[in-house]
Amino acid sequence: MGIAEALQRLNERIHEVCLRVGRDPGEVRLMGASKFHERDALEEAWKGGLRLFGENRVQEAERKFSGFKRDHPQVELHMIGSLQRNKARAAAALFDCIQSVDRDELITELGTLTLERERPLMVLLELHTGEASKAGYPDVEHLFRATERVLSFPNLKIQGLMTMAPFTEDKEIIRGSFRALVSARNQLQSRFPGRDWSCLSMGMSNDFEIALEEGATLLRIGTALFGERRP
Ligand SMILES: *Cc1c(COP(=O)(O)O)cnc(C)c1O
Repeated sequence: MGIAEALQRLNERIHEVCLRVGRDPGEVRLMGASKFHERDALEEAWKGGLRLFGENRVQEAERKFSGFKRDHPQVELHMIGSLQRNKARAAAALFDCIQSVDRDELITELGTLTLERERPLMVLLELHTGEASKAGYPDVEHLFRATERVLSFPNLKIQGLMTMAPFTEDKEIIRGSFRALVSARNQLQSRFPGRDWSCLSMGMSNDFEIALEEGATLLRIGTALFGERRP
């Protein structure tokens, strides 16, 4: 199956699950998690209609997307991997959104780097909900403080939260992880009303249907779209 066909099937599946659980499919975005896939794969996905891509490493994203962005200025590119402080400048220049904001010092770095520019940088705060790598803020109290810090910078625009569920066959553990993200979002919404908390980035190839059932608005799909990653 080619990438365009895989994309079409995923969109159909998203549509079906949304209708089954009474959600509007129009509120769900599909991101192509394109790590380790090269320009030919990106082009194929683009031709199939994909406009949102996510990358894990700044250098790899620069190499692959600087030319791609010139040719397709409408592309939207998000950072979804762990971001080191010394790569923050390059990341702020390349990405439209940093989904993996997981430390206050990173917020300060990104906020300072974007002080003088006109275009805001979108950010999601990452919550750790059980995945093994331990990436993400540990709890809602930390998210409250992180949000205050984000709001203190004029060109950082909060849009919601991101998480990764643990790699397990146990659906209830995965569901629990997504529910923890929704619960955190609801608490942030009451603490910081009037801000945009609409983006819930959760769900990957193996668990996106559960994520949709629990309220995901952005799915990060790699393998089910591009095929197995070359190591
Ligand atoms: C690779 C990756 C994905 C996509 O994973 P698949 O299981 O291949 O769909 C999603 N989110 C993050 C943060 C990733 O690193």
